[in-house]
Amino acid sequence: ILQLYGSLNWFGNYYRVIQKNFVDMEKMLDLLQESPEIKDLPQAAPLTMQKGEVIFDNVSFSYDTNIPTLRNVSFTIPSGSTVALVGPSGGGKSTIMRLLFRFYDVQKGRILVDGQDIRHIKQHDLRSCIGIVPQETVLFNDTIKYNIRYGKIGANDQMVEEAAKAAQIHDKILGFTEGYETKVGERGLRLSGGEKQRVAIARTLLKNPQIVLLDEATSALDTRTERHIQKSLRRMTVNRTTLIIAHRLSTIVHADQILVLQDGEIVERGSHVELLQKKGEYYKLWNKQLKHHEKMKKEIEISESI
Ligand code: ATP
Repeated sequence: ILQLYGSLNWFGNYYRVIQKNFVDMEKMLDLLQESPEIKDLPQAAPLTMQKGEVIFDNVSFSYDTNIPTLRNVSFTIPSGSTVALVGPSGGGKSTIMRLLFRFYDVQKGRILVDGQDIRHIKQHDLRSCIGIVPQETVLFNDTIKYNIRYGKIGANDQMVEEAAKAAQIHDKILGFTEGYETKVGERGLRLSGGEKQRVAIARTLLKNPQIVLLDEATSALDTRTERHIQKSLRRMTVNRTTLIIAHRLSTIVHADQILVLQDGEIVERGSHVELLQKKGEYYKLWNKQLKHHEKMKKEIEISESI
């Protein structure tokens, strides 16, 4: 019996590894759509991580050689600061993130992390210092504890709880019938979009990377959830080099720098206030969102008064 149990246990572990890899793949495919073969150079060097400064130096890239997706994109994210990417759909925001995670290599220019060209360093090193919070977080069919601990296999219960507290989801979890042991995912308790995003934030806090890539969820959130998310996002991004794809401009009012991308080019850059004063593309985007926001507010008021 012991032997049988041993092999079942082995199978269980093995299954979990397979399952994990599948979900990982799914998550990656979801976020990054596809992942072509990028291989380490034979002489790839370990990454010497210092403060986590990121530089895009005159980067051009195309998925298909005929159509340029990014053209001469240059910007710096000083260590610990936040750069936000905004602009119309198809402008190239996600492509910039994919390139920094090195799912593709640039065709012109270079990307540097702490002065090191990412094509010359070990992918494993690069990816272990980058945390990603995708738009849609995939949960494993396992306990909420397992789902958070996934950020750092080996973290103890206390570390998991600390991360959940910082991500503003601890109290919510305590409200579940089985607390941290509650099963979530497709076959368990379904979490809302905002809750799933907070799980992703807790995972990232556990992973404790120097660089954070955040693809903000597009879905409108209620004010309470929004407040929770904003608070946990601030906890996650403080002192970390952060790149955000922002859909709700209210999120990035405090970003150190905002880049407006259009058709693969940076057409404007500056702080929120500077860009509003410029009365250019950002100003148009901001006013469009403001109008939309006011329309939504009115609709809510009307529906509440009926
Ligand atoms: P959104 O706000 O809609 O997410 P985005 O600014 O993130 O858009 P990208 O996803 O970076 O834009 O896409 C930039 C351009 O590259 C688009 O024209 C898109 O169609 C194209 N593109 C994106 N992914 C691929 C791919 N895997 N293969 C070929 N073309 C792609």
